[in-house]
Amino acid sequence: MQQYDIIIAGSGAAGLSLAWYLSQSETGRQFSVLLLDKEPKDQNDRTWGFWSKESTPFDGIVSWQFDKAEFISRHYREVLDLAPYQYRVLEGRRFYDFVRKSLAVLPNFHFRQEVVKSIQAGAETAIVQTEQDVYEAPWVFNSIFSAKKVKAQVLQQQGLYLQQHFKGWLVKTPRPVFNPQQVRLFDFRTPQHRQMRFMYVIPHAPDRALVEYTLFSKDLLKTSEYEAALEHYLRQVLKLKGFEVLDEEWGIIPMTTYDFPARQGERLINIGTAGGASKPSTGYTFLRIQQHCKALAEQLVQGQPPYAKVRSSRRHKLYDAMLLNIMGRQGAESERIFSELFRNNPPSRILKFLDEETHFGEELKIMNSVPRALFIRSFFELQSEF
Ligand SMILES: Cc1cc2nc3c(=O)[nH]c(=O)nc-3n(C[C@H](O)[C@H](O)[C@H](O)COP(=O)(O)OP(=O)(O)OC[C@H]3O[C@@H](n4cnc5c(N)ncnc54)[C@H](O)[C@@H]3O)c2cc1C
Repeated sequence: MQQYDIIIAGSGAAGLSLAWYLSQSETGRQFSVLLLDKEPKDQNDRTWGFWSKESTPFDGIVSWQFDKAEFISRHYREVLDLAPYQYRVLEGRRFYDFVRKSLAVLPNFHFRQEVVKSIQAGAETAIVQTEQDVYEAPWVFNSIFSAKKVKAQVLQQQGLYLQQHFKGWLVKTPRPVFNPQQVRLFDFRTPQHRQMRFMYVIPHAPDRALVEYTLFSKDLLKTSEYEAALEHYLRQVLKLKGFEVLDEEWGIIPMTTYDFPARQGERLINIGTAGGASKPSTGYTFLRIQQHCKALAEQLVQGQPPYAKVRSSRRHKLYDAMLLNIMGRQGAESERIFSELFRNNPPSRILKFLDEETHFGEELKIMNSVPRALFIRSFFELQSEF
């Protein structure tokens, strides 16, 4: 059995972030760290969008950033000034390359491309078994999880479970149609089918953009249905006669009240989506991963047990649940709710609220700005959970 100080199972956003924060200090660089992943992580398998008003360690590799965002629905259309926030877009491949190259020069960080079969948590160590080998460490961090198992558990506990699922096309158009100054966060000009469905557009250039058909709903669609919606949007809404699809993106993010366990036993700590880092009502995860992994690395460096949790107050958990409940039961109302939300609040208040940094007075303003009856009903429907 090969021994390490730290094993990281799954070297995606969370695994690489944790390793990167460790590598930033002299003490952290002394740990022997094993990073395992079944993939080589050399593909642009996802694009992370996030907003921030502060600098982040990965700003240097951000591909696009926007000070303005568009909101379009049947009820409301506006170009929103995001100040003091900025919406930044980071491509997966750039992030993987950057972190892997930074760590490759450090003698104590080891990458192995192996499939993890099991992780057993003991009292003093945890043991990771891959298809090739067995490894042991006093601290094992895990970002591998089965969405199917989580879904089954949530439904058994009668919790709320939606999926944010999306298919994106990176398109090149024969004429300029996109405004590279602004990200289109919501465009509801797509049939709603009584669910929350919208287009999310990240322009790369006037004739090039990632266009994503995004749904918040219980069940996935057939591939042909996502594609038909993208075709409809590009041809009927954007009035394009032709376009070229350069690349595709596909993803599912769990949106749930499920309480992802922070750790199993003393030695096995969950990180990333597996550790509850995905915000239930929005699916935004990337910055929450950064906050969590930075805190874990600091604890390790200080010789403390790495038990920092993804922070979320009870109040914000309730707001997330109320929104999920409304989107799940009354998806047809989503377009109206989001329109009122953006019409009646400065974007900075909404983003601060979604970052869970608002105080109660600001939250009351948000609640008062949207159809109140829906939220009151949702609040009472959820009383059994809280
Ligand atoms: C397409 C897509 C787009 C997204 N866009 C955004 C966004 O814009 N903004 C945002 O905030 N969030 C976004 N998310 C949500 C979230 O930020 C990402 O899913 C993020 O990658 C989660 O990080 P993670 O480390 O938990 O999981 P991952 O990054 O998925 O890392 C898990 C790793 O485990 C590996 N693995 C899995 N099983 C095994 C096994 N048995 N053995 C070995 N390795 C294994 C995988 O190969 C993977 O590399 C997106 C998600 C997807 C899927």
